[in-house]
Amino acid sequence: MLQKKENGYFIQNQSVNSLIEQFGSPLYVYDGQKIEEQIASMKDAFKEVDVKLKFACKALTNINILKLMLKNGVDIDAVSIEEIKLALHAGFQPSQIQYTPSGVAFSEIEEAVELGIRLNIDSLQLLEKVGETYGSKLPVAIRLNPSIMAGGNLKISTGHADSKFGIPIDYIDQIVELVEKYDLKIVGLHQHNGSDFKDGSVIVTAMKKSIEVAEKYFHDLQFIDMGSGFKVAYHEEDHITEIHELAKSVVKEFHDFQERYGRKIELWFEPGKFLVSESGTFLMTCNVVKHNPNRNFVHVDSGLNHLIRPMMYDAYHEILNVSNLDDSQTENYDVVGYICETDTMGKDRKLPVVKPGDIIAMKNAGAYCFSMSSNYNSRIKPAEVLVYNRKAQLIRERESMEDIFRHQIEVTF
Ligand SMILES: *Cc1c(COP(=O)(O)O)cnc(C)c1O
Repeated sequence: MLQKKENGYFIQNQSVNSLIEQFGSPLYVYDGQKIEEQIASMKDAFKEVDVKLKFACKALTNINILKLMLKNGVDIDAVSIEEIKLALHAGFQPSQIQYTPSGVAFSEIEEAVELGIRLNIDSLQLLEKVGETYGSKLPVAIRLNPSIMAGGNLKISTGHADSKFGIPIDYIDQIVELVEKYDLKIVGLHQHNGSDFKDGSVIVTAMKKSIEVAEKYFHDLQFIDMGSGFKVAYHEEDHITEIHELAKSVVKEFHDFQERYGRKIELWFEPGKFLVSESGTFLMTCNVVKHNPNRNFVHVDSGLNHLIRPMMYDAYHEILNVSNLDDSQTENYDVVGYICETDTMGKDRKLPVVKPGDIIAMKNAGAYCFSMSSNYNSRIKPAEVLVYNRKAQLIRERESMEDIFRHQIEVTF
């Protein structure tokens, strides 16, 4: 993680200046040890149950990050056939990959099944089709929508009654009817109710809904999967999901359930953000400082093409001027990009005086940052670097103009 020392800002032993000198700007840098710390704290918090972590890899799909998960005993939750193929490439066994699609073509489902991937079913229509096609031969999980409002904002809430995700729990009779009709083997019940839960107790509330259904209808379960929602601190003063605190009530509830159920099963989680967000720092360079009558602007060599969360979700990411260690003189700036569209990365940020050439760092850039980047404005995507055991390695090269031309076909007309 980014740390201030007497002589500058560092990620492990690597100074931000040397990283930019070596790999260029802008640059995504991930701290591998921070990812391992997050994995360890989650495993520790739930150690009293048979917990399995499935990294929601859409947060950060670099193959090396996937390999780091594999090395640390974390499996994969994939949401597309492409993510499945990335995970297989990274060395995961098909049995370590769960597929949680949302309204995809059946041909994609067939492809995943042929690859031996466990399926998580998110609609009655798919349940019927899977029943018709595979019957009892294919063990599957069901994604339930528990009708619960949870999540940092509506865009990242997925378990409420108006959400497209999962099968409404109110349709349990139809689910059971289809399961019986096709003799389906239901091995897991899944929920994922959103991101950035303000209050971890929603997981307990939601889990009770799965438990109720499990006890009543599904007696062959191997796991209950509670998805994710674990929050990390974006603001310094943010109240984060206290993972150990939250785990206590979840573990207790799960123990009681297992006793009633008559045997032990696995408890799954699919953290994305919790595992990788804080490991990431996005380093940019100030191109221009503009002093307008009402506002000061710091223009960086990036924008919503590389990091869209502030514009897309109103997300707050802490921003630092890591080139100026003297915080006795500060100014308020809007940190903005170079894209021809409003692309504010941070509004009204008090920073040590910024001058062109200064390195500007954005924190919490590990989750949903590079993975949501684009080539808008025909800009190339930045490079990615992994710092692991005090060694900085390039894990994705910066794009070039060739990448912008690639796949375009010039025709005559
Ligand atoms: C995105 C997603 C997650 C991860 O959510 P985070 O808030 O990043 O932890 C987990 N499960 C599913 C099915 C998802 O789509």
